[in-house]
Amino acid sequence: MRLLIVSNRLPVTLNETNGSYRMEKSAGGLVSGVTDYLASLKGSTSEPKEYLWLGWPGMSIPDKHKDQIRQKVQDEFNASPVYLSKKLMDKFYLGFCNKTIWPLFHYFPNYVVFNPEFWNEYKRVNEKFRDELVKIIRPGDIVWVHDYHLMLLPQLLREKVDNPVGFFLHIPFPAYEMFRLLPEEIRKGLLNGLLGADLAGFHTHDYSQYFLRCVRRILGLENHMGRIDLPGRAVKVDTFPMGVDYQKFNTMASRRDDPALPENKDVKIVLSVDRLDYTKGILHRLKGFELFLQKNPEWHGKVCMDMIVVPSRTGVESYQEIKSSLEEWVGYINGKYGTFKWTPVIYQFTSLPHETLVSLFRMSDVALLTPLRDGMNLVAKEYIASRNDKKGVLILSEFTGAAKELIESIIINPNNIEEIADAIDLALNLPEKEQVLRNEAMRERLERHDVRKWANDFVESLKEIRTVSEYAFMKKFLIHELSGKILTDYSKASSRLLIFNYDGTLVPLGDKPLSSGPSRELVDMLKTINEHPGTDIVILSGRSREELESWLGHIPVNIAAEHGSWIREDDSEQWTQLKPLSGEWKKDVLTVLEMYTDRLPGSEINEMDYSLSWHYHRSDIEQASYIRRELADHLISLTANVGIQVFQGNKVMQITSSGINKGDLARHWLGSKKYDFILAMGAGWSDELLFQALPDTAYSIKVGVTQTDARYIIKDHEDVMNFLKKLEQQKVGRQD
Ligand code: UDP
Repeated sequence: MRLLIVSNRLPVTLNETNGSYRMEKSAGGLVSGVTDYLASLKGSTSEPKEYLWLGWPGMSIPDKHKDQIRQKVQDEFNASPVYLSKKLMDKFYLGFCNKTIWPLFHYFPNYVVFNPEFWNEYKRVNEKFRDELVKIIRPGDIVWVHDYHLMLLPQLLREKVDNPVGFFLHIPFPAYEMFRLLPEEIRKGLLNGLLGADLAGFHTHDYSQYFLRCVRRILGLENHMGRIDLPGRAVKVDTFPMGVDYQKFNTMASRRDDPALPENKDVKIVLSVDRLDYTKGILHRLKGFELFLQKNPEWHGKVCMDMIVVPSRTGVESYQEIKSSLEEWVGYINGKYGTFKWTPVIYQFTSLPHETLVSLFRMSDVALLTPLRDGMNLVAKEYIASRNDKKGVLILSEFTGAAKELIESIIINPNNIEEIADAIDLALNLPEKEQVLRNEAMRERLERHDVRKWANDFVESLKEIRTVSEYAFMKKFLIHELSGKILTDYSKASSRLLIFNYDGTLVPLGDKPLSSGPSRELVDMLKTINEHPGTDIVILSGRSREELESWLGHIPVNIAAEHGSWIREDDSEQWTQLKPLSGEWKKDVLTVLEMYTDRLPGSEINEMDYSLSWHYHRSDIEQASYIRRELADHLISLTANVGIQVFQGNKVMQITSSGINKGDLARHWLGSKKYDFILAMGAGWSDELLFQALPDTAYSIKVGVTQTDARYIIKDHEDVMNFLKKLEQQKVGRQD
């Protein structure tokens, strides 16, 4: 079993000079973090013990060199390159990834570009990754897909292989109102893409919840404690805040000889480190620092801001604009406050190696990180981990994922420039004792939740959800061999009882709940099966006698209408009752239902002799879920002493006279004759009572993949139809 890591970029970057290729290890949080975890796999006692990393090698390679490079990358880095042309990468990476998803997911809708061509290229690149993976994947391999570049890959892969697939998003997942700005095809495509995974991981609880809400509102799928049950499998959505390589930062030696490091030891240093990106709030930071200087002239000449800005995405126009404004601001501050002896802002547009960064972290008095939005912000964690003297003050934006864990830092809202200025003042005056107290708490947390634990937790969680999925669903599945045994038992038996629930079992759950008549095909099948000698069919439904009579009345089957309020035996044309019932309660309940129907657009009431149903298939899913709960409470208080029962169905609430349920109905027919083959199929909550009433030898089958007391599960209505088709074709012995 191997762990296949898949990310847009490989942990190695290729460079070419005069036809010869050089390979350099890539920097960055993901690479250094995951590499450390991967190195630990070799000696581990549990699986996986090996890994392979798939991704783009950073440049397009001529065909003649591809095989040789593939071998070299594989031998030296345990990696496998996904070759993509520069043109494709441009539209995909600079286009859809960085002009559509990145700004939208970071709450910058004004920067978002929607271009159908970008989306097509995004799909194509994700398919390319899928094709490469399919070539090398082996049974049992675990796949871990990383980040927003590959959100379609989990589903694309799921269509081809059955390996465990995990997905982790390294950027924020936005709130529903932001996400829904995407065109419908894209928003549904991205969500379905992610649901191809067994486990979808996010940095913070908020991001996980936003994702779940989008899944509920856009795809109509509910979750229970972050678990979404899909046909045949479960998807778990969970939170895994990424850590840093604590030991590395804690123990790394400081360097004093680096020219990138500041010299003047008498000046306090406020450090700022980020990639050049409009999400990082670099301008806000400069404005905050300027206001601090304005308000605190006593600090002039005694403090400076060291600003490291790492070049990034130079091909995107908005990044060039932001660079110009930030350089203008640096010039403005230095021009306004600087002297020959003192430069308030020292600005470097460069990327520094970790050794230099760590020294810089240790030299600075304050780290000022003010992103307007940041999935995590690893720099904040690295700063604290590097401070083995436990000193230094971290000022951190509340809009970073890291702020959820680094709660002892000075948390600020970067949109409020005053707050930044005051925080700098507070930080520069914070007594050393308090610095140590705050940092100790954060360092302990970072040590415990380091990057290795993050990766390990994710992979273990992925294995766990796969086991749950397999146990809860697949083991119970009505698989080929089992349906063979059911069919053999069926034909061998001399008297058979088949009980079918109607909606969701014999007909699909539709958007028009009030008019779902059976298909011609279904009616013909029921007719043929019912003619098999010794076979009795019972159809249970919450629908009215009239509806069922008009759809199925011409076949001599047993029917229970209105949840069993009325029954029609197969040898009779009369509707009778198992027990006398009363409908007196209906008037009061109707008044209540009408009130709630007015409140919930799209909902409607269906009145029958001894029952009422309140449908809300067409209503807003979240509003319905809220109002439904209020209605349930209202009904409980109103009807405490009245003989009624309330059932929650699929987007319908059913209120019936109490005294009859599907269990009683099953017992009625079970007691009427001796059957040596019993099969019952149901889809809803009320069918659980039916399953519980059956003898152990019966085949009880739940339609749809949810927890159930039934012995078996069949995936959906379509599979029910296929099964009935086989049942219809069985040769059965004649009963004497
Ligand atoms: N980094 C670096 N050299 C630099 C500046 C940053 O190696 O000069 C690294 C930094 O140590 C961190 C990563 O780049 O691991 C930045 O990650 P972060 O989550 O803070 O922001 P991102 O760039 O991913 O948005």
